[in-house]
Formats: sequence, C-alpha cells, structure tokens
Amino acid sequence: MTTVALKDVTKVFPDGTVAVDNVSLDVNDGEFMVLLGPSGCGKSTVLRMVAGLEDPTTGAILLDGELANDLPPRDRRIAMVFQDFALYPHMTVGENIGFPLRLSGVDQQPRGERVADVASALGIGDVLARKPSQLSGGQRQRVAMGRAIVRRPGLFLMDEPLSNLDSGLRAELRAEISGLVRELGVSTIYVTHDQAEALTMADRVAIMRKGVLQDVGTPTQVYGRPATLYVAAFLGSPRMNLLEASVYVHLDRYVALNLGEQALYLPWDDIRARAVAHYHGERIVVGMRAEALTPVAPGTPGDVLQGRIRYLEHHGHESLAFLDIGATAILVDDLGGPVTDGEETGGTSRLRRFGHVMQRLTGRSG
Ligand code: ATP
Repeated sequence: MTTVALKDVTKVFPDGTVAVDNVSLDVNDGEFMVLLGPSGCGKSTVLRMVAGLEDPTTGAILLDGELANDLPPRDRRIAMVFQDFALYPHMTVGENIGFPLRLSGVDQQPRGERVADVASALGIGDVLARKPSQLSGGQRQRVAMGRAIVRRPGLFLMDEPLSNLDSGLRAELRAEISGLVRELGVSTIYVTHDQAEALTMADRVAIMRKGVLQDVGTPTQVYGRPATLYVAAFLGSPRMNLLEASVYVHLDRYVALNLGEQALYLPWDDIRARAVAHYHGERIVVGMRAEALTPVAPGTPGDVLQGRIRYLEHHGHESLAFLDIGATAILVDDLGGPVTDGEETGGTSRLRRFGHVMQRLTGRSG
C-alpha cells in the first residue's frame, strides 16, 4: 500500500496565514496515522496537500517514495472520507458506492459486481436499493467507506468522519473503521481533534499545534512520554498535573524535586532520579498523571507528597480528588474505591476524614 512522506512541508495561504509550518512526517505501508490537534492547527491542510487539493508552498510530498507535488489528485490512488460522509442523497446506496467507478468509465456489469462485493464485505448488501435518508448513521458510514474502497485505493484520507455523530455511535464506529482499515491493510491518515479517537484508533499519532508538528509516536509513547509540554497538557483526561520544581542532586544519593512548600525525594537508583539529575540547580516542570498517584497511609516513607482535598468529583467508575499541595492544586484518582454522596455529605464520612487528614501520596512522575 501507498507510503507517504512529508519533507519540510510548509503551506502559506495568500493572505499570509501559515497553516502548516515545516512539517516532516512518514506514514508507513498499511499504517493508521492519526493527525490530532485543536481546530485550526493545520490538520486538514496537511490532508488536502497529500490529496493534491492544495499545493505545498515549500517542501516535498512523496507517495511511494516518488515526488508527488505535481501529481494530479486522480493519479494518487487516494480515497477520501469526509465529515457527514458526503453521500449523494438522490442516489441509492449502490449508486453511491459505484459512483467513483462510473466516473472512471467502468461498465455497468463489472461495476455492479464490484459494488455487490464491497457492500457484502461491509454488511450492507441488503440495503443497496435504499437512499441514504433511509439508513442509520452506522449504515451511512459504511456506505461512505464502501465508496472509498471501491477503487482499491492505496491510501485513505479521512477528515473527522465521525464528528457529527452522537458519542455512542462514534465509539462503535471508530472500532469498526479501524477494524475494517486494518483488514484491508490500506495506509490511512485520519484527522481528528478528539483525543479518545486518536488514542484508540491509531498505530501512531501525530500531534499538531499552530501548524507545527509537536510529537509523533504510538498512543502509549505520546501519552506516557510526551515530547513537549504542550502535548503533556493536551493529552489525557483528566489532564496531566504539571508542577514546577527545582532540582537538587544530593551527593549522588538522591534527587530532591523542590515543589515550594514540600519536596519529592527520589532515591538515586530510581530511574526518574537519573532522568532529571542533569537539571541540577535548574527549574523544571514535572508531569504526573492522576492515575500514577495513589493514597498511602500517613507515615509511609518514600517519595510522598501531602495534600489537602479541596473537592471530589465522581465519575461513576472512579473519583477524582483535587488536592492542594502547597500553593499547587493537583488531582488524583482512585481513592480506594468510590466515595458515595452519602459519605460526602454524611458528617462522619470518609470524605471528612480525607478533608481533615493530610493525605500522603506517592508521586510517580511521568
Ligand atoms: P479544523 O479542525 O477546524 O478543520 P484544522 O486543524 O483542520 O482545523 P486547517 O483547516 O488546516 O486546520 O486550517 C489551518 C489554518 O489555515 C487555519 O488558521 C485556517 O483558518 C487557515 N486556512 C485554511 N484554509 C485557508 C485558506 N484557503 N485561506 C487562508 N487561510 C486558510
């Protein structure tokens, strides 16, 4: 399947907007690459340049290793799936799926056979005669996918294909799309601003901000070891705690992260200690995910922080505690099981104990 390489690609629109700023990115054979970032960060412009719908101002776009800057869109073996699926309402499902074949002059009989094959592979063989308005959201999505795969593309480009659907259907379809794409083995670039979509669907995620590529990696890599502070703050719900700390190395025995009113002490044999040791005497930002912080009994030795619970937020399967740690508020989940509303308001409750006892937390900075 098609491989894509962007080399130092910049796109400046005539009004001076720098939509894409010196981006280099590879998409491997059969890879599902998700472009993630907030609205206006340049994701769609990257996609449109790969499709040949926009020209890069500078830089190179290679498809299968060949320079493709001047290759017309129709010669790129690319299929696009858009928001709303862009189905033709006056055509039947069969006509919608077969439309790209009709455009390229494929005769009616082979076209009908191919449409039937694709529709049956997608489980929509029995609705070929219906109009899009007579389909469920999930079926419409499958028709859009059918139309995209009918010409056996080497590359799928998908621009927020699920963004107009309700959250239940979105979750269902994202599994379906990534399953289907993997089955077909077609290289894919999928644009979204939804990090849950990105982290669940992608082989690798490329995170953009203001036209600049911030980080590229597997979901585990970008979530666990974000390349920039922006990515650290952007990815994950709840957001990663970011605390400013001064670093002091004590005679190669431990590293202290001074957080103001308290400090975290990391023993020297802890890999995190050595990771920050070369910042001795400097201020750094320490990232800690809520799920990496767990309550421990008062008096527990080790790298612990103390915080007073400001409030709790219940999310059904977990509770988040917002804690003051000196001047800094951080949050932590998993308070040893759900805390019920009764407990929260009941006076003798666990919450009161949490509220009045200074909590100690192990701090596993990520
Ligand atoms: P969204 O998620 O909202 O679609 P995006 O990340 O896909 O956003 P782009 O559509 O690529 O972002 O736009 C990137 C920037 O380029 C934005 O500031 C946008 O306003 C600008 N832009 C896009 N198309 C044009 C154009 N034709 N002329 C001028 N500026 C443009």
